[in-house]
Amino acid sequence: MNRRLPAVPRLAVSLVAAALVSHATISCSQAQPGEDSRWWSHVRALASDDLRGRRTGTEDFRRAAAYVAAAYRDLGVDSLGPAGYYQDVPFVARTVDESRCSVTLLPEEGSPIALRLGDDLTLIKSAPLDRDVEAPLVFVGYAVVAPEAKYDDLEWQDLKGKIAVYVSSGPKAVPDPMRAHVQFAAERWAHLRAAGAIGAISIPNPATMEAGWARYIQNRAQPGMALDDKADKELAGQRFGMRLNPASADTLFHDSQHTWAVIAALAKRGEQIPTFDMPMRLKAHVEAKTTRVRSSNVIGVIHGSDPTLRDEYVLLTAHLDHLGVGAPVDGDSIYNGAMDNASGVATILELARALRQGPAPKRSVIVAALTGEEEGLYGSRYFALHPLVPMSRIVAEINVDMVLPIVPLTHMIVFGLGESSLGPRATEVAQRHGVATQKDPEPQRNLFIRSDQYNLIRAGIPSLAFAKGFEPGTPAEERLKEFRHKRYHAPSDDLDQPVDHQAAALWNDILLDLVRDTADRAEKPRWNSDSFFARFAKEPTTNPSRAARP
Ligand SMILES: [Zn+2]
Repeated sequence: MNRRLPAVPRLAVSLVAAALVSHATISCSQAQPGEDSRWWSHVRALASDDLRGRRTGTEDFRRAAAYVAAAYRDLGVDSLGPAGYYQDVPFVARTVDESRCSVTLLPEEGSPIALRLGDDLTLIKSAPLDRDVEAPLVFVGYAVVAPEAKYDDLEWQDLKGKIAVYVSSGPKAVPDPMRAHVQFAAERWAHLRAAGAIGAISIPNPATMEAGWARYIQNRAQPGMALDDKADKELAGQRFGMRLNPASADTLFHDSQHTWAVIAALAKRGEQIPTFDMPMRLKAHVEAKTTRVRSSNVIGVIHGSDPTLRDEYVLLTAHLDHLGVGAPVDGDSIYNGAMDNASGVATILELARALRQGPAPKRSVIVAALTGEEEGLYGSRYFALHPLVPMSRIVAEINVDMVLPIVPLTHMIVFGLGESSLGPRATEVAQRHGVATQKDPEPQRNLFIRSDQYNLIRAGIPSLAFAKGFEPGTPAEERLKEFRHKRYHAPSDDLDQPVDHQAAALWNDILLDLVRDTADRAEKPRWNSDSFFARFAKEPTTNPSRAARP
């Protein structure tokens, strides 16, 4: 922290001052009621038990959205659309009545095997499943198709009318970040569908599962959401879908001359997995109820000052939704989502405040608190399908998902670091604050495609997202891993966890400088010409060797 340069923006001074005061008056950095940075007061409000976890489509989310809209109003942030700050996002919510559903394996020889909903599997709710389906199963490895890497799990496979079974992971033969892209649900399904599949069964890779199966299924009684939008056809044609508990996977390989243990070991190493027809069919009966639900993105704009550049936009996003009220863990059923992602929304509010305080950025900056991220990145998907300004005028997207100031900020993981001209800018800005940037150290977790930036990337917009970094082998790494295993997507991601307010202030300073840099720089950000994501670009790309120079 002492490597910070003396010249810090006003926001930083006040935040750090607040943090210093609190450190002086409170014996440890444990978050205390009364902690008085503005950033923390937003986190406290949004992650309070009163807002009950801000689940998409609930009254709780609506109140959280009203909080953000009121904050925009207080800050003098302008609205962009005709409906004020709200962009209405229509959803369908599906509830599965598990007591009336059945999923049965029908081996070629021997008696039917009934799978248990919950213990063995969960049905997907993102697509409208058929009430009754019966189809042969075919195992397709990772279900990955990547022609540029000359990798194709579906080659030679007859998938017509069949249900594809795959390990939700990626082969190391496909380099990052292509490996992340080919695992995006819509991307995978597009290939399976084109090959004739009518359904899919995914088996999590035990080596990269973030939490045990119990965590995957604990909230399955809650409705699952999908966009109710004709423009969205991503999962069209998927008549059956489920996720299988890896601990129950052996049943499926019955009589196939393959075992799950061997396949899981290959998946752990990212090696190619054999593909084969499975000697069984699957029969399912699904009872689901669908209701229509509305939610909203909360979007404002800080107009730029430059007569020409002000018609271009930097998009700053953070998802506002979290998991709501669910299965109790240690007697607590409110999934507050303090880090995930009240912390990110608090950051975009603080950045909006600083930008409004001036000087005004040259380009305009859109701030968007998004809905439906936890349900499947739907708020950003909807925005990408229905942008409130022409997409061609959005020059960059910066997404804030989990600030995680539970350890001091020394390293910042930057997703997309090597992909566009934004990467070197982020590194330079962070270095100015004494913070080093890192590439994603765990690309197999696919975080680059697992938050809202990905819908903007697919629309061609150079984007960055961030995570708390660490020096391998340090206590910080331990603390961050512990968060992921114990608190991430659990009720204990709440206000009762140690927060390093100085780390949060520094994080916000860096992002503010990066937003300012992006908004003020004459050249628009560009994808590097050798970036995998350049294919989505509507603008010419940049030469990576030139972009690498400051
Ligand atoms: Zn989350």
